[in-house]
Amino acid sequence: MTSFEDFYVQCTCCEAWLIGKTPKAETVSQSVLYSDGMIINDLIPANPQKLVLCPACGKFFWILKENCLKANPELDHETAYPWTSWRFFGCNLLDNRGRKALINHYWRSLEILTPLSQQQEIWIRQSLLWAYNDLYRDAEKWQFSDFIKGKVSLRYLLNSRSFNKDGVAFFVAEKQSIEANVLALIHLYEQDDTTEPALIAELYREIGNFVKAAEILKNIVRKTHYINMLNEYVKRGNKAVFKIAG
Ligand SMILES: [Zn+2]
Repeated sequence: MTSFEDFYVQCTCCEAWLIGKTPKAETVSQSVLYSDGMIINDLIPANPQKLVLCPACGKFFWILKENCLKANPELDHETAYPWTSWRFFGCNLLDNRGRKALINHYWRSLEILTPLSQQQEIWIRQSLLWAYNDLYRDAEKWQFSDFIKGKVSLRYLLNSRSFNKDGVAFFVAEKQSIEANVLALIHLYEQDDTTEPALIAELYREIGNFVKAAEILKNIVRKTHYINMLNEYVKRGNKAVFKIAG
């Protein structure tokens, strides 16, 4: 199991202390990597959260090195907000209402945090894309055969089906907003020389522009496992996020 180290971060608006957690690198096991770049370690999303909605004053602030401190005995006396109160803006992702709230927080941050640097906007839009994809990411995880094999109870299977159905319905209803976000993300990545072309191909695939995705993939010389899988999905005209490894 992954174990964590505490750190303290101070809100830049109201100076409240918040406790965060970072995984200890040597304990990370069982990483699952998805085509959209999402990494999950031991069932916990591993991509670090850089933007916080302060649980004390309700303002957004960025986690920067200079407002973070390692846990130490002096800070232990400070009253600090626990990780759960600000992780994913305090949204409960085990509930679809929480997942939708997280998406709304990202949209709101794009609206009110202006001007944003290129890297900040990329972070928000990429997180927004993951939040949308999370609505159906593991929807096919449990099948009826898993119930037959005794891996899950019938009640669990039915609850999880109904939960996923609601998530997928919201994903479908949000099609236009998702596309607008992905197109903006593509535009930002195209301006950044360090972007892997495969990442842009993946984004085109996710909005169903398979011609453009194939065109980019054709020019990638190094055919990694990921590139081959991406090519397969593009050929099949499948825009769903898929598991690469894990
Ligand atoms: Zn604050």
